[in-house]
Amino acid sequence: MRIRSELIISILIISIIPLSFVVYTSYNYSQETIRASIMDNLVGATENTGQAIDNWMDVRKSDIRVISQFGMVEYIEKEELHDYLNNLENEHEGVYKEFFLLDLDGNIIFSTKNHTGNVDSQQYFIEASNGRLYVSDVYIPEVTGSPEIIIANPIKKNNTITGIMAARVGLEQLYGIIEKIEIGTLGEVFIVNNKGDIIFHENRSMILHENIKNNFAVKEVTYEKNGIAEYVNYQEETVLGSYYWLPLYRWGLIVEMNRGEAYIEVLALGRLTVAISLFAILGVILFTIVISRRITEPIESLKDGAISLVEGNFKPIPVSSKNEIGRLTEIFNQTAKELLEIRKKLEMKIDMANKDLELKNKELVIANEELKKLDMLKSDFISLVSHELRTPLSAIRTSSEFLESEENADPGVQKEMLENIIRNVDRQARLINDILDLTKIEAGRMEFRFEQVDFKHMAPLAIENIRPIAQKNHITITEDIPDKLSTISADKEKLIIVLNNLLSNALKFTPDGGTIHLSAKEYQDYIEIKVKDTGIGIEKEQLEKLFDKFYQVDSPSRRKIGGSGLGLSISSEIIKAHGSKIHVESEPGQGSTFCFRLKK
Ligand code: ADP
Repeated sequence: MRIRSELIISILIISIIPLSFVVYTSYNYSQETIRASIMDNLVGATENTGQAIDNWMDVRKSDIRVISQFGMVEYIEKEELHDYLNNLENEHEGVYKEFFLLDLDGNIIFSTKNHTGNVDSQQYFIEASNGRLYVSDVYIPEVTGSPEIIIANPIKKNNTITGIMAARVGLEQLYGIIEKIEIGTLGEVFIVNNKGDIIFHENRSMILHENIKNNFAVKEVTYEKNGIAEYVNYQEETVLGSYYWLPLYRWGLIVEMNRGEAYIEVLALGRLTVAISLFAILGVILFTIVISRRITEPIESLKDGAISLVEGNFKPIPVSSKNEIGRLTEIFNQTAKELLEIRKKLEMKIDMANKDLELKNKELVIANEELKKLDMLKSDFISLVSHELRTPLSAIRTSSEFLESEENADPGVQKEMLENIIRNVDRQARLINDILDLTKIEAGRMEFRFEQVDFKHMAPLAIENIRPIAQKNHITITEDIPDKLSTISADKEKLIIVLNNLLSNALKFTPDGGTIHLSAKEYQDYIEIKVKDTGIGIEKEQLEKLFDKFYQVDSPSRRKIGGSGLGLSISSEIIKAHGSKIHVESEPGQGSTFCFRLKK
């Protein structure tokens, strides 16, 4: 999982769980508090209304008691009583509907409404006759259709009941007081008697027409209990109902509020809590995202930087903060810079090593070429040596067989044959000597005995060696050696070999009628010796290889002329041992000049 996701999840867990717990607990607590306060209010309102009913009824009762004593009602003038009670009715309009006086037999002896008749079977008469004030059940008179009660009180004289004072009391005023109670738009307030009949309701038509005994609060209140509860009422609505028993009148006051409406504040609180929680959670999420981005962005940059470093296109990461990550970024940038420098150096070294390797490779190719050449030389050498050995041998054999034959006894011819044998033996000996000399020189085993050599005296010896053949071929030999020539430091015998080689080569490669010129010239520190001929010359590209072992310029015209290809190699090695070098200048058809310098 990515750090950012981990961070977000961790922060959310450590913030949202406690947050939710706090919100949930405080919501529950507030809900309970509000609920309790709503219930308290409802109970309070019910009790207050109950007391208001009690008060109102008390006033009515005390009115009747006062009237009952008014000038001993039986004995005052009827008209005076009439006026007094009419006034009272007017004063309490709508409350007192009628006052009437009963004798002990239940006959109406006086009525403000001039009613007559006998009511001895009425409960209020019976109860009042027994000496106490009595409040009747609610009833609805046919004439008005408005609920009323009758309050009856015995009239006493010297503790003897002399009559009954009764009043019909309209309940509309009382209802008006009850209806002031706050029950919301959906609530109901009603009063039931102890049988469960409705004796007060907003809907007056229900009064004494509906019995709601099954209502929970009605049951409770008819058991003469007070209290509050949540229940499903007679209209199948869930309500919060408060009930209050009025024992004096055997009435139960019931105030029901629609549960939803009652707890509207709780619901609003719930919504508010949910909204606040959502905002808080949203805030935490946003905060978490911002914080995680702040933390992970530099890490992401570091990761990208590391990748670009690996890929080789690193650019320094901008340092966005001064905290630990900022410091880490600085260190990373520094390290990356150093690494890049090291890398650069390494690449340069590798480059150099590669170039070196290339060079070595080229050298190896050249060496390989050399080896191939050497291999070819070896083959050439074998064929050349075998040829050079075989040719004189077959000549010797032919001459020997000729001598062996008795038929060829001519002394002249025999001498010629013998000379031929000797020449070929010499030729072989020369070749073998050449090979041995070169091997010795290359192995560093050839001994040089340096001495002061007078070249002026040495040159004729070398010329004499080739003169017979030169004369035979009409080749002119000239020399230009100053009389007073300084001596040179050289090995005389080896120097003769060199001169012989150069002169015999000049002879071999100069056609009849040509010229060979030997010269020596003195310089300050050395003497320069030159052998020049007017021979066939050598092509430019062959010049370098002339001094290689067994090298012979490969052309049919030259092949005819015998040789081992060792002469110049030996000469060159000898002159090298003298601390010098043989130079050659030549052009095909223009002759050749071989020259070397020797220290005085
Ligand atoms: P070789 O025994 O063949 O003379 P060298 O080493 O003396 O061997 O000479 C090598 C080759 O150089 C000869 O085979 C010849 O082709 C060439 N060369 C040497 N000297 C001359 C010269 N003066 N003129 C032309 N070619 C020469």
